[in-house]
Amino acid sequence: MATRERQSFAAGVRQELIRLPAGKSCCMLSEISALTQTSGHLAFRGGGWISVSYRLEDAGVARRLFQLLKKRLGVNPALHFTQTSRLGGRRTCVLTLTGADARTLLDALHMTETDEAGQIHLKRTVPRHPMTRQCCRRAFLRGAFLGAGTVTNPEKGYHFEWKAEDSHLRQNLGRLLEKSDLPFHVYTRYGKEVVYLKGAQEIADALALMGAGHSVLAMENTRIQKQMRAAAVRAANCDEHNGEKMLDAAQKQAEAIRQISLKQGLFTLPPALQEMARLRLENPELSLKELGEMMEKPVTKSGAGNRMKRLMDIAARMEEDET
Ligand SMILES: [Zn+2]
Repeated sequence: MATRERQSFAAGVRQELIRLPAGKSCCMLSEISALTQTSGHLAFRGGGWISVSYRLEDAGVARRLFQLLKKRLGVNPALHFTQTSRLGGRRTCVLTLTGADARTLLDALHMTETDEAGQIHLKRTVPRHPMTRQCCRRAFLRGAFLGAGTVTNPEKGYHFEWKAEDSHLRQNLGRLLEKSDLPFHVYTRYGKEVVYLKGAQEIADALALMGAGHSVLAMENTRIQKQMRAAAVRAANCDEHNGEKMLDAAQKQAEAIRQISLKQGLFTLPPALQEMARLRLENPELSLKELGEMMEKPVTKSGAGNRMKRLMDIAARMEEDET
């Protein structure tokens, strides 16, 4: 538990996933396919030279992929590290397959075809691997999370996402989530699509589906603690001046937002203000700092305060206009 608190929740989920057994042959290929779609890069040169490389920030994920490739396909990726000047000089692991090994991989993912002369050609640039079995769907979601997923610390809020670099990946994820009865949403961030889940239950289900049972338990624990803390705060606020003041302010804010909603509709507000308004109405007991952390793109306490002030200004202006 203590170690979990020191590292991020998402890192804990990743650690749990990379320790899972590689699984059945069909599942190994599904996970390889997901990691290829999220982190793989194809490169060509003259003379039929092909390489597939994977860039992974988490050394544990790189190790798992290395083992999957070796075990399932009998190939030997080369491993090296690069230091990016971006991201605070974080080290990135690069796994590379070239020549016959690269072709073995592309073959297994149905990306190549052989012509009459026995020459191998690339058929498509996206892996195709039918995932009709439930075991494989789980493996794919897991691989995609290891390659391009993250989850918010449940202390702060409930948000779980896979970045989908291309539309094929987004479609694949959508299809698999539908088959798994998990309601998902899509939004665009910096021109790239993000498939995400909201809600504690949906996120717990997704974690369980990927095989992260311990993380589900950790999340449930946090959820219970949060509920208990909120109840304690509510009880303490009855006689504590500070808590009372905070709740007073929160109530005034909620009232102002209700007035805006009544008189002009929240939909008339810019999206950032709409989100803040909705969060305040849904969480009357939380501080502005906590609301800021719950936003789709989290903001600091002062950022949240700024948005709230704009909402209060709008409400005040509405009132002035009336008198
Ligand atoms: Zn399978």
